[in-house]
Amino acid sequence: MASDIQRIVVIGGGQAGGYACKALRGEGFTGRLTVVADEPHDFYERPPLSKGVVTESDPLPRLFPEDTQASLDIDWRRPRRAVTIDREAGEVVLDDGERVPYDRLLIATGSRPRMPVAEWSEIANVMTLRTWDDASRLKARLEQSRRIGIIGGGWIGLEVASSARKLGVEVDVFERAPALCGRSVGPEVAEAIRELHERNGVGLELNRQDIQLSEEDDGRVTVIADGTAHEPYDLVVVGVGVEINLELARDAGLRTEQGIIVDAAGHTSDPRIFAAGDVSQHPHLGLCLQSWAYAQNQARVVADAMLGKEAHYDEPAWLWSDQHGVNIQILGVPSGELHCVVRQDPQGPVFFYLDDENRLVQMVAFDQPRAIKLGKRWLAAERILDPQALGDPNYNLMQLR
Ligand SMILES: Cc1cc2nc3c(=O)[nH]c(=O)nc-3n(C[C@H](O)[C@H](O)[C@H](O)COP(=O)(O)OP(=O)(O)OC[C@H]3O[C@@H](n4cnc5c(N)ncnc54)[C@H](O)[C@@H]3O)c2cc1C
Repeated sequence: MASDIQRIVVIGGGQAGGYACKALRGEGFTGRLTVVADEPHDFYERPPLSKGVVTESDPLPRLFPEDTQASLDIDWRRPRRAVTIDREAGEVVLDDGERVPYDRLLIATGSRPRMPVAEWSEIANVMTLRTWDDASRLKARLEQSRRIGIIGGGWIGLEVASSARKLGVEVDVFERAPALCGRSVGPEVAEAIRELHERNGVGLELNRQDIQLSEEDDGRVTVIADGTAHEPYDLVVVGVGVEINLELARDAGLRTEQGIIVDAAGHTSDPRIFAAGDVSQHPHLGLCLQSWAYAQNQARVVADAMLGKEAHYDEPAWLWSDQHGVNIQILGVPSGELHCVVRQDPQGPVFFYLDDENRLVQMVAFDQPRAIKLGKRWLAAERILDPQALGDPNYNLMQLR
């Protein structure tokens, strides 16, 4: 390990920040490890916030057991916000004026929910979901709600819809596009997700271009979609994507596009500064993934690089979602002209998106984690596949191992 590294500062106490700290200590870093976190909680993960935390009252989904976290010997600044990175001085300036010096800095500030109309934030019963505090509020509000509206038919909105249905709450989802999750999956998958939600009693209002919200005297919220007012909802949850928290990096003059530009080892355009998780643009895909696995595994790689070790992140995009008791896993990101092969297995469908040479580009599996494991190998090996075999439920995919 380079001997000039005595002080490491991490901005952001989420998935990427937590796993970077664990990896730094695991790799033998014994210097001062400061974490600046604007949430008061220990490191925790977000996927349960739209699922078990709401439906089963799961506790704070800590990343590490308490003793493991204590062993990381973190020099916390929480709840505190980093407001400036002074690259010349090598210091992070906090919202109380403190300046924290660093030899190496990791930016792991994640992203925040987008609110398409600023005034919506002022309506008491309109909310977004990102943090433990949001999830606690959502849970409490759902317990008092008969019906809710959701703006946005993406992953978060649909998971909230599913959780609300599980609690017996009526749900309508309003989506601007003609299909659900259209930004990340093909029309065949979107259709299967639509059927899943309709089967479970979710009202779907697709292709609604103009959405307006208005607060009633009793606090309920009316959704006016393309001029039609719907019966007021007890709560409206907005899930229309995220803004990447890259202002600190941009103001400090680091190279940014959709996110902070990093190489496969997480280096930004400043050799002493690294980035990980949602805020870092994927080094090969050129976009920001909002994925638990990316935040965790890329951050581990970056921790090695921060200590001067050889490091390289090259995993494919992978994320999952749980809706109405179905586990949906998505491997890879669609790009270019693709054709879809659908396999209808008894446990659930698998959708293979292949390029013109029949190599896998994206795969989506309903309740079939083993198929996804195979897909990871095929992607890595750029294997040419036989579409007929893939689509035949009598053909054992394991034969293609
Ligand atoms: C409700 C929900 C459900 C999800 N479900 C899934 C799922 O099923 N599968 C999946 O693959 N992914 C899922 N995700 C996405 C996944 O959780 C994220 O990709 C992951 O949390 C990203 O980790 P991160 O560390 O980059 O960012 P975060 O976990 O957001 O952590 C960043 C932290 O930095 C803090 N911060 C920001 N700016 C500052 C500052 N200036 N100073 C101090 N602190 C700051 C933030 O408040 C936050 O605490 C879900 C996300 C949400 C919100």
